[in-house]
Amino acid sequence: MDDDGSAATVMLGLAGFRLIAVSEYGGECEQAIETTAVEDFCRGCGVAARLHDRRPSWVRDLPAAGRPVTLVWIKRVWRCMETRCPVRTWTETSELIKVRAGWTERARAEACRRVGEDGHSVAQVARAFGVSWATAMTAVRDHGRPLVEDPDRLDAVAALGVDETAFLAANAKHPTMFVTGMVDLRGRRLLDVVPGRSSKALHDWVSARPPAWRDSVSVAALDPFRGYATALSTSLPGAVRVLDAFHVVQLGFAAVDDVRRRVQQQTLGHRGRRDDPLYRIRRVLRRGAEHLTDHAWNRLLAGLDAGDVDEQIGLAWIAAQDLRRIYQRATDRDTAQRRLHAWLEHCADSNVPELHRLARTIDAWREEFLAYFSTGGVSNGPTEAMNLLIKKIKRVGHGFRNFDNYRLRLLLHCGVTWQTHQPTPLRGRLPRLAA
Ligand SMILES: [Zn+2]
Repeated sequence: MDDDGSAATVMLGLAGFRLIAVSEYGGECEQAIETTAVEDFCRGCGVAARLHDRRPSWVRDLPAAGRPVTLVWIKRVWRCMETRCPVRTWTETSELIKVRAGWTERARAEACRRVGEDGHSVAQVARAFGVSWATAMTAVRDHGRPLVEDPDRLDAVAALGVDETAFLAANAKHPTMFVTGMVDLRGRRLLDVVPGRSSKALHDWVSARPPAWRDSVSVAALDPFRGYATALSTSLPGAVRVLDAFHVVQLGFAAVDDVRRRVQQQTLGHRGRRDDPLYRIRRVLRRGAEHLTDHAWNRLLAGLDAGDVDEQIGLAWIAAQDLRRIYQRATDRDTAQRRLHAWLEHCADSNVPELHRLARTIDAWREEFLAYFSTGGVSNGPTEAMNLLIKKIKRVGHGFRNFDNYRLRLLLHCGVTWQTHQPTPLRGRLPRLAA
């Protein structure tokens, strides 16, 4: 290529440039560089140009050997030798160091990677590079948007997960604002987020995908929200809709909670307090039976003994555990259907109104519930895992005001495959230095 192959230029690693001098400047490393171009041609008339002047230009670069690096690019100023040409002089340019930029493109790309892949805050990265927050954020946008808007990013989705997350907490000016997130359940990546949690929000996003993309989605997992189900049935009619097991199990435990609160109120006449026996076991009641230690079992039974006067909480707890058990025990749709039928009857026969309501809800989602067992147990689990990452990014960003920034940051962290070079092992390596 056009580099001189010298040790210094290899260390620099900036294509088309060579390192001509290195010095220390206040604990930082200052590297003088120049392009390897020896000749330029006038862009006005095409005649060969002559070197007219040299002008230094300072930019920040990636740190080297633990020290901040400043590059001093000794730019060439060329002059056209053709006297009739209107172009007089011009300064050389490079894609790697943009005109009037304060830092190199590779430093800007690294800032974007740290914010995106590493999930660091923009403020943190700005400090590390010695630039302002706005300058760092511009770099994140310039280098991040092409990654996020790349149409190939959404390729090959066979199983789609849909879920909502809170974007902005409620305040005096607006209620809690939600976003709908779409997740690739097999590839475990965030595909996109759109404002709102409506049928329309999801429908519009799915409908904007090319037909081939929509045809490739065979399964869609969703939480029990009618809006999403409607949107999926119209925009992805070919995909089997599966009710997410996690949400179903949560519905069961929510019913137990409701019964506990009602019984508490009826027997003691007030909401749960710290020393109330039912209040003390509220968390134990939400655990799967097989995860309970002996100690937890004893606490649970003692709490129910003391507070569950009509044994309604116990009944609801058993129903919630049985609902979970359908997922654990049933291996095919027929078995699941039989077990579900028995479970629904059991709830209907009970004297617990919350169980009647729970049974009606599950029954209304019967097809989506059973689809879990005919699709090999597709789960919205990756969506939930994605929600944890989303929460992390929100914490790092101290809450977002601007939806576009929020979307960019989320997708850079959970929706983009970073081609970061992974160090190779040193063990067994042979020296390659040409001494
Ligand atoms: Zn010219």
